[in-house]
Amino acid sequence: MPQRNVGYTEKLIDKVDIAAAELLADAHQRYGAAFAIVTSFQSEGMVLVDMAARISREIRVLTIDTGRLPQATLEMIGLVERRYGIGVEVVRPDGREVEAMTASLGQELFRDGVAQRMLCCHVRKVRPLELALRNVRAWAAGLRREQAESRREIPISEESDGKLKLYPLADWSREQVEDYTQRHDVPRHPLYARGYATIGCEPCTRAIRAGEDHRAGRWWWEADAQKECGIHFSADGRAERTVDVLLRQVLSAGDER
Ligand code: SF4
Repeated sequence: MPQRNVGYTEKLIDKVDIAAAELLADAHQRYGAAFAIVTSFQSEGMVLVDMAARISREIRVLTIDTGRLPQATLEMIGLVERRYGIGVEVVRPDGREVEAMTASLGQELFRDGVAQRMLCCHVRKVRPLELALRNVRAWAAGLRREQAESRREIPISEESDGKLKLYPLADWSREQVEDYTQRHDVPRHPLYARGYATIGCEPCTRAIRAGEDHRAGRWWWEADAQKECGIHFSADGRAERTVDVLLRQVLSAGDER
């Protein structure tokens, strides 16, 4: 059973932090190496990493290198490792699956439709993460209800696919995240300073303009789609069926390589 650092709450200056930190500490105590934080180094994920490092440096931190990340995100890996004295586990997609997908549908397939975009997210993010989490019994991510319509109902914790999924910041406001970041001098992803509101793959994320919705910088060519990648929410209806068909084709082509 991993040891909990009993003084960790004293290192958190404000009480609002404690509920989220307790959740991480309890998961660490209960599951040890079978618990992980998954982050793409956005502000919310960085709050979780900062909290986790105060609890124990043994808490695993995972990130997904989709192969299409901006250089600034790749640089965050080293920065986080140096700042917190931890090793970040980098999860990558299966090269044969990526090759099979791009060979048949092109490198920029995500511009051809919602199903193609979800397929790309599936191959580059969802499948590799599922594989990386196969021995994990609980994991945490930094989603907040305020971030998007599709996130309005996310719980603090839920059972999903036999795993405990934690969203310790589900009820936090953007201001709370900013406040924590400032108080603890948490490293910031450099793209925020260039007008980005969320950070994702380079071709699918842009800076937003004044007055635009927080998620407007993601897959902006998809006017009506739910802008989620499938890690936390699955596609519905026709898109899901099309993704399934395309995925089966890609996987069988990948097996032949
Ligand atoms: S965000 Fe874009 S490039 Fe990244 S996995 Fe999804 S569709 Fe592919």
